[in-house]
This record gives sequence, structure tokens and C-alpha cells, in this order.
Amino acid sequence: MKKHLLLTILIISVLALFGCGNTNGNGSDTGSGGGSAKAEETVKIAYLPITHSLAVLEEADELANNDKVNVELVKYGSWPELLDALNSGKVDGASVLIELAMKSKAEGVGIKAVALGHKDGNVLIVSNEVKDGADLKGRTIAIPHRQSSHNILVNDALAKNGLTIDDINVVELAPTEMPSALVTGTIDGYCVAEPFGAVGVSTGKAKVLYTSEELWENSICCALVLTDDFIDKHADTAKAFVEGYKTAGNNLDAEAAKKIAGKYLKQKDDVLETSLKWISYDDLDITEEQYNKLVDKVKEYGLSDNPPAYSDFVKTDF
Ligand code: ZN
Repeated sequence: MKKHLLLTILIISVLALFGCGNTNGNGSDTGSGGGSAKAEETVKIAYLPITHSLAVLEEADELANNDKVNVELVKYGSWPELLDALNSGKVDGASVLIELAMKSKAEGVGIKAVALGHKDGNVLIVSNEVKDGADLKGRTIAIPHRQSSHNILVNDALAKNGLTIDDINVVELAPTEMPSALVTGTIDGYCVAEPFGAVGVSTGKAKVLYTSEELWENSICCALVLTDDFIDKHADTAKAFVEGYKTAGNNLDAEAAKKIAGKYLKQKDDVLETSLKWISYDDLDITEEQYNKLVDKVKEYGLSDNPPAYSDFVKTDF
């Protein structure tokens, strides 16, 4: 009896030993023994629950059972918190407002933008009382952060009507607070990551004044960013991750986007339906022309004097 048990333990131990070497490489992912089987690696990605991050959420679902690379999603409640995690290396990357990432890069943080977060997908929302673009004069408009394409789009909307930022009152507010601030009349409008614009529209008290494409064609807003440390130490994984991300973006048609948003965003169906009409996720490469236009706007509207150059900040050669 005792002998039998001992033999069983021995067999289990041997099986575990051999099984381990090929499939369970958690943690020690460099310098594998040269075997043909590829150890599974995990990329830790920070995100906010907004429609702008759907491509990486979709990728995490698509790669859930992949044997090359997995995505571990780390959810944050605000851009400053997410940025702290990215800048301190707590995560390997993030889906983040590109201007925030550009500022970190300019301050010496080792990160690269490897793809767009999304295409279009922003709206300037105003109270029903605002008649038109010229009527923005003297109004109070909220943005989530000075370093954002929302700030740029507000500047673009003003420029379209012969106004400047000095003609309005700009306030920074948390995205979730914007719809209610508009309803109570604290602000007259806002521009922010979705679906908070659609939430405003759903109250019946607000409307879309401009969509982003009416103000800035091929606008850039969020980017998928990876740390240099991760790219350097895990080149193959980074490549597989970026490829998987672009595939996920191409797979996000209206139906797939609604499904993944329903899973992660916890918003009402009608809000998501409205919001998802404004955004797309196919072909998420960051082109030099598109980036340079962003750089021009960042300088023109005073977000930054020294944004990083495309060649230093955008990585396309995976
Ligand atoms: Zn965005």
C-alpha cells in the first residue's frame, strides 16, 4: 500500500517536471531552453473604461487562449492614475491620450506609441441653448485635461468661427461629471472621450455641435503605448501583441464593438449605440503625416513647445 503511494507520487512528480518545462513559463520568460514550444507571455496594459480603448479590450478577449501572448488588463479610474502606472513601469503599456504620452516622452519616460487607439470618435457637445459655433463666445466649456485632443478640438471649433480660447471659459472636469454639469447649467458644453458625449445627448438637454472629423480630418486622440523596457526585453512578444491589436481593431465592426463595450463599459445600450456611430478601429497605424499635423496643433494651441519627433516616439517597425 505504502509502496504503491510512493510510486504514484514519483510518477506525478516526473509528469509535473516535464509538463512544466513546455507550457507554464509564467514569470521567467527570457532565455528559454531553446525548445520549439513557445512559453506564454503576458503584456500588462492599463486602460480606462471608454469606447476609445475598445481595441485593446477586444484583443484581450481574442487572445485569451493564445499560446504566444496574453493581455492582462489593468483598469484605472482617471488619466493621472493611469499615467502614474505607465510612467513608473507598473504596466508594460497603456491605451492613453496621445498628448499625455507625448508629454511623458518629452520628460524622459521611455515609451513608444505603436498604434492609434481609434479613429474619429470625439464630439463637441453643447447645451440645447447654444445656437451655433459663433454662439460659443462667452460660454464655459469643459475638457478632461489640457493635454488632450479634446482641448485641440475645442480650439479648432473656435478657430472655425473666428474665435480663440480667450473668448471662452475652459474648465477641466472628470469625464463622468460632465453630463450632469451640463444638465445643471454649470457648463455649456464639453469635449471628452466617449461615451460621455453620448450620455449628454441621452439626457435630451444637449446636442452635438461638431463631430471630430468636421473639425480635424484624420484626427489623432488616443494611442497604444508600450514601454521601451518591454519592447527591448520582449521583442517577439511586443511584435505579436501589436499585430494582435491591429487585427482586433480590424475585427471591431459595429456588432463586435457593441458586444465588447457591453462587457467592459457598463453603459446603457442606447448610449453605446449613439456613441459607437462616431468611432472606428480599422487600420490603426500612426502615419507620419497624421502625427506631424498633431504636432503642429499641439504647438499652435500651446499644449507643448517641444513635442517628440515622429522618429523618436512612433514605432512602426515590428
Ligand atoms: Zn481617444
